[in-house]
Amino acid sequence: MWLEGIPCEACGSTGTAAGGGGPCRACWGRRCATLTRCPKREVDARVLKAIDYAACARHGNWPRAGGILDQTQSAVQVIRYVWSEEDAFAVDRAAKK
Ligand SMILES: [Zn+2]
Repeated sequence: MWLEGIPCEACGSTGTAAGGGGPCRACWGRRCATLTRCPKREVDARVLKAIDYAACARHGNWPRAGGILDQTQSAVQVIRYVWSEEDAFAVDRAAKK
């Protein structure tokens, strides 16, 4: 699976192999990262839980009872980080349509 919008780390998103010897062997010149196994295996359980909490928090359902002031600082930070990444992805996706 090609991960459009995520740069290939092997070639620095140039699409060429180191030293200019043909296409990058990691992305085959597409300049984006590839995923060769189940995406769930790339993300650990804590990250999946953070994404789930962030999705619930978007609808006002925070991990702990109460509002944002009742949450731990680390929970608020990770939820805001997930929202930031999701929002940036949505903007990027909308720009490509
Ligand atoms: Zn590459």
